Amino acid sequence: MKKILYLCSFLLTFSSCINTETKVKTASESMPSKAEFAIIIHGGAGTILKKNMTLEKETAYKTKLGEAIRVGYTILKNGGSSLDAVQKTINLLEDSPLFNAGKGAVFTNAGTNEHDTSIMDGKTLNAGASAGTTTVKNPINLARAVMENSPHVMLSGKGAETFAEEQGLQIVDPSYFYTESRFNSLQRIKEKESAKQKLDTKAAFYDPDIKDSKFGTVGCAALDKNGNLAAGTSTGGMTNKRWGRIGDSPIIGAGTYANNATCAVSSTGWGEYFIRAMVAHDISALMDYKGLTLKEAAQEVIQKKLSELGGDGGIIAVDKNGTMVAEFNTAGMYRATMNDKGELEVKIYKE
Ligand code: ASP
Repeated sequence: MKKILYLCSFLLTFSSCINTETKVKTASESMPSKAEFAIIIHGGAGTILKKNMTLEKETAYKTKLGEAIRVGYTILKNGGSSLDAVQKTINLLEDSPLFNAGKGAVFTNAGTNEHDTSIMDGKTLNAGASAGTTTVKNPINLARAVMENSPHVMLSGKGAETFAEEQGLQIVDPSYFYTESRFNSLQRIKEKESAKQKLDTKAAFYDPDIKDSKFGTVGCAALDKNGNLAAGTSTGGMTNKRWGRIGDSPIIGAGTYANNATCAVSSTGWGEYFIRAMVAHDISALMDYKGLTLKEAAQEVIQKKLSELGGDGGIIAVDKNGTMVAEFNTAGMYRATMNDKGELEVKIYKE
């Protein structure tokens, strides 16, 4: 009898040990570690293949991505806001001819460069955007000014330019945005269009042999030390766009979204599909309403919803814990991350 009692008490102690260990493990697993701050950027997704890339070009892209993200990283490390980090990081990418934003913007069918942009503050859900501007050197600065100094969320065209001037933003002659490589891309698309004798502009825009297969839009998402999330996006849109076409980039919920309760997202890809799929907000909503992780939500929206519609592109995002995700259904996406330990990762192709 004594032996049986000993055995029982041993078994009880042993099983409670196992339980404690299991409980501790479960608790730590369900509680993701929180980073102090984090920053992620993209410079566009698309048919970016290693076999088509020279080492020189690859280095140029990686260097500029690294340089840009360090600007935001330093702001965050010094206790600055995620909004400042997003804006200033995007400024560097806008000033580079490598990306389809600011200086490197693509050409419209009419031979102009028309910029779209937006920014969102995850703390207040305030947002600012502008579309179709041709004279504002750094469009993301205009988006921020719209958010902070106007009663509106989105301005367009001439009115947006007048507002930018009133705000003292840097205004340039439209010729500042001319780059030979973007101009040549427009000519190539136009030649292909006429070779196919496509009179139907709608069919031409959606023709995979004609359309631009690289999206060079830039975007940034960041979490700061105060737990505030922000995201921003800046673009020249799509080559050969017509009639004042506006893509997803300036549309809050499609190209950009940020909410402290969930995540901050910036998109790049075929804007028509990103608008129809409401990509950026959908990712936040899946986290909010369904409790999905950022990775699960991004996969659901990019690999299922967007892909099934026929759209291509991707997103970069960071959640309230500082988890960073890059999700795309194209061959590559220019992207970089920096965590609170100062570890930098720059990538172009699929892993
Ligand atoms: N999403 C942009 C647009 O459709 C293009 C891009 O990402 O490069 O205007």
